[in-house]
Amino acid sequence: MSTTPEHSELSPATIVVSAGRPERVQGGHINPSLPLNSTYVSRGVVTPGELSYARGDNDAWHPFEQALVALESGDGTDGDAGAGEGIVFSSGMAAIAAVFALVPDGGTIVLPRHAYQAGMVLADQVRDRHGVTLRHVDITDTAAVVAALDGADLLLVESPTNPMLEVADLPAVLGAARASGVRSVVDNTFATPLGQRPLVHGADIVLHSVTKYLAGHSDVVLGALVTRDAGLAATLREHRTLHGAIPGPFEVWLALRGLRTLALRFERAQSNAAELARRLADHPEVAEVRHPSLPDDPGHQRARAQMNGFGAIIGVRPRERAGLGAVERADAVVDAVRLWLPATSLGGVESMLERRRRWGTEAVTVPEDLLRLSVGIEHIEDLWRDLDQALRT
Ligand SMILES: *Cc1c(COP(=O)(O)O)cnc(C)c1O
Repeated sequence: MSTTPEHSELSPATIVVSAGRPERVQGGHINPSLPLNSTYVSRGVVTPGELSYARGDNDAWHPFEQALVALESGDGTDGDAGAGEGIVFSSGMAAIAAVFALVPDGGTIVLPRHAYQAGMVLADQVRDRHGVTLRHVDITDTAAVVAALDGADLLLVESPTNPMLEVADLPAVLGAARASGVRSVVDNTFATPLGQRPLVHGADIVLHSVTKYLAGHSDVVLGALVTRDAGLAATLREHRTLHGAIPGPFEVWLALRGLRTLALRFERAQSNAAELARRLADHPEVAEVRHPSLPDDPGHQRARAQMNGFGAIIGVRPRERAGLGAVERADAVVDAVRLWLPATSLGGVESMLERRRRWGTEAVTVPEDLLRLSVGIEHIEDLWRDLDQALRT
């Protein structure tokens, strides 16, 4: 299996198509095959990198891992400066669990006050079971993040955050973590490697819920980490092997198949989202819209400076109606859509929405009536008509 060697010269829109393909031999496959093996022929001492048992390493994972490394590894100017290693997991949460396991008992994690809720619930368990201190910060407040790094072991960043769409100053907070010897991880699920490359800004680890945009069709649950630190990669792989949080071959194969169209899907989803956000901001039935594309959004300037595009997730709070509570009003909008899917998750080709606080585990500072819209790739006018009628219902 070989990747195209000149990745650093290629645009990410090309890398998603070209990376992780088999070697070009006459009559050879152009797509990676789907090898199904729990074990490999193996005798005597196993040398590093040799396949032996499929929980430890599996060639079914390699094409996708290589493609993800090619996407996250550089900005096209740093050649092969430690391209890095990709490590797939059975889910985004399994990847988060592997990262939290890097923190020693009694250690300290700095993390956003608003971030993916299951990750925050797991952080609470790590605190309770391992005596770990959690320092929750407003990830947009760079001075607060920097102050919280003192004596910490790990900085977890989401940007834009789920579901509040807050944008962190990535170069500043990652640079500060590096300077104070604090390991940093960026959950890049919302932005995708097409939107930003945290390793270039100094992150030690990039995390993905591949379930979302990378796989892109709401038919796979998968996670991944990318790091340029070989020692760290070995530790994370060992965690995966011992805890057994490995994906099946078909999930990874589907993820690479989905990745092939990421650039097209994300371009369309982002342009749909920016247009919908613009229209929603003027809608008489809307009280508040959050999308970093809006010029007066708090994250707009930062997103412009450090991202390529503004992502395709929108936060909306419907205008309240007399005699109807804010929660009932928001739920009524979800009940009224016909094309948009009422569902959790995001990043698929199909547009979805949900009221985030319907989950008891969502942060209480997330407004109770906040709808999170994951904008898909349908025709903009169909999406708009449906949303407009649902808001007016
Ligand atoms: C969904 C999600 C996760 C968790 O990933 P799973 O694949 O569902 O385990 C982590 N981070 C973010 C930002 C997510 O949206």
